[in-house]
Amino acid sequence: MRPNIKNIAVLTSGGDAPGMNACIRAVVRTGIYNGINMFGVLQGYQGLITNNIIPMDARSVSNIIHMGGTILKTARCLEFKTDEGMALAYENLKAHNIDALVVIGGDGTFTGARRFAQKHGVHVIGVPGTIDNDLYGSDFTLGYDTAMNTVIEAIDKIRDTADAHDRLFFVEVMGRDSGCIALRSAVACGAEAVLLPEKETSIDDLVKQLGAGAVTKKTSSIVIVSEGHKQGGAYDIAKHVKEKFDHYDTKVTILGHLQRGGSPSSFDRILASRLGYAAVNELLKGSSEMMVGLRGNEIALTSLDEALTEHNFKLESDLLEMTHVLSI
Ligand code: ADP
Repeated sequence: MRPNIKNIAVLTSGGDAPGMNACIRAVVRTGIYNGINMFGVLQGYQGLITNNIIPMDARSVSNIIHMGGTILKTARCLEFKTDEGMALAYENLKAHNIDALVVIGGDGTFTGARRFAQKHGVHVIGVPGTIDNDLYGSDFTLGYDTAMNTVIEAIDKIRDTADAHDRLFFVEVMGRDSGCIALRSAVACGAEAVLLPEKETSIDDLVKQLGAGAVTKKTSSIVIVSEGHKQGGAYDIAKHVKEKFDHYDTKVTILGHLQRGGSPSSFDRILASRLGYAAVNELLKGSSEMMVGLRGNEIALTSLDEALTEHNFKLESDLLEMTHVLSI
């Protein structure tokens, strides 16, 4: 049965990801198409607490489908973790007669949304928006595909200069708890080795791998380091390797925040549109405390409980093995 929802708000929270704007556009226009009054909350949960809530019409989301970042801004908000902060947020929602919320973000955002729904009875649907691709229940999260393309473009350029100078490059990519970007970019760029948060690799093993390449006359190599690696960041690892293996001139590149920006890829634009559309339709059907995601090529619902307890990215050992074989 369709619940009596008349007013819906959308917010983006946590780390920004390309595709968030395309998703905001889809949410706002799907709501308006269905006769709902739509609102945007600025700066994530912070804006709920400070009452930074604005009405949105179809034109307020014109010409944003191709933009990175988020027109609604995003923030990390510690106050929302307190009962008082949440109560204030709820008062502000009620003052605007907002019955339901679409939150676009990662696991922190979903943790907040679940608590908010359970504590104050607000209907919420989550859209997975994070470049890390680490949410259970969706094969892909918004921004991951664009971030991967950015990483690949950057590493291809590094490969040119590494080859020209016979250098060993350590390239650090994002993914504190998830090696998804690191492993898959290693495959896509033909990296000689990859260090992941999910797997311990000793410096000795890494030196052995690089040494095998040197024996077969490899003159340059690329090692991709996920930022969450136990041995430290790319600079630390490069230093340790250099102590034991000085065949090449060694350089380090940290790709950093450039991985978060840029115009979303076609994949992310389509995913964002599908998930935003589905999020509003699910709210109108009466769903709450759910995440909309993509499984296979179908929209799939996962409870926020499940999305938060399961870890999505299981180390793809076959890909890891393959990077070794294909980079001999
Ligand atoms: P992401 O959504 O990308 O994982 P964060 O972990 O920073 O990003 O979470 C985004 C926001 O979600 C936090 O700044 C906070 O406002 C809210 N949040 C996170 N954890 C909780 C929690 N346990 N209770 C309430 N709100 C939370």
